[in-house]
Amino acid sequence: SVPAAIASALYAGARHGLLMKGGAVIEATAAIKTVALDKTGTLTMGQPEVTDILCLDGSPAAEALVLAAAVEKASNHPLAQAIVRKAEGMVLPPVQDSRAIPGKGVSAVFDGQIVTVASPRHAMQDGALSSTAAAQATVLESEGKTVVVLYTSTALALIGLRDEPRQDAQETIRQLRSLGVTPIILTGDNQRTAEAIAGLLRTEYKAELLPEQKQQTIRELTARGPVMMVGDGINDAPALKQATVGVAIGSGTDVALETADAAILRNRITDIPALIRLARSTMGNIR
Ligand code: ADP
Ligand code: MG
Repeated sequence: SVPAAIASALYAGARHGLLMKGGAVIEATAAIKTVALDKTGTLTMGQPEVTDILCLDGSPAAEALVLAAAVEKASNHPLAQAIVRKAEGMVLPPVQDSRAIPGKGVSAVFDGQIVTVASPRHAMQDGALSSTAAAQATVLESEGKTVVVLYTSTALALIGLRDEPRQDAQETIRQLRSLGVTPIILTGDNQRTAEAIAGLLRTEYKAELLPEQKQQTIRELTARGPVMMVGDGINDAPALKQATVGVAIGSGTDVALETADAAILRNRITDIPALIRLARSTMGNIR
């Protein structure tokens, strides 16, 4: 019977770490035409490492690092965790009122001043990035690195981070194509870094998207047919909600998990095509 086929697919999926919130999700997943994938933490390992610390005011790199780590401590963004890891064993200055600015960065108060760690674009909008510093950031980005800026009213340091693509990223894209599904990368990261991974995977991409712009892109893609969005972060929540099927990956944030229709719990993105195959075979058995 139909309910039995659905129940057994939900159960079989769950045994392999593929969670779907009900039969309607299976039906929607079987019909997916486009899969939009977040970059950081989804197509990449989400384990970036700090590769460069460029102090702009001549102070020692360690000073910039501990301040950046203190601000990032409250964030569970992969970039934040990398900066905190780099400062392991060092004494962090006391900061208050840390708050995330999704898709942009984090701010906190230190010594009566607002200290922010954020994308060069956001630092620029805050009037804190000189054109010389912006040019230095561009150099790091063209090396495939993500750059964040530590700033108060002016930039104190540029921090470069590198995040390797997941080993199974290429295989995932290949399997999606063989299922007749079009992959596209959506990222809040800069154009140059996005271009590097899109070139490697030979996919379309859209970069420098704020959370609402990711959502808007999903809305546009839906004109071509049902869209699956795969993401791991708080910045992906609006897009996950907008998509026909939103899938949270990995440990994810609670926000991503709550908003999503489905989740892949094993940290393996080939589980995305596996989810589509499971849904299609289930619907095939019912019809
Ligand atoms: P993605 O879409 O690739 O997962 P996000 O939307 O999470 O990326 O972030 C986009 C950009 O915003 C990052 O590349 C970074 O420049 C900046 N950013 C976001 N969160 C943080 C943070 N906690 N610390 C510093 N920069 C951040
Ligand atoms: Mg992400």
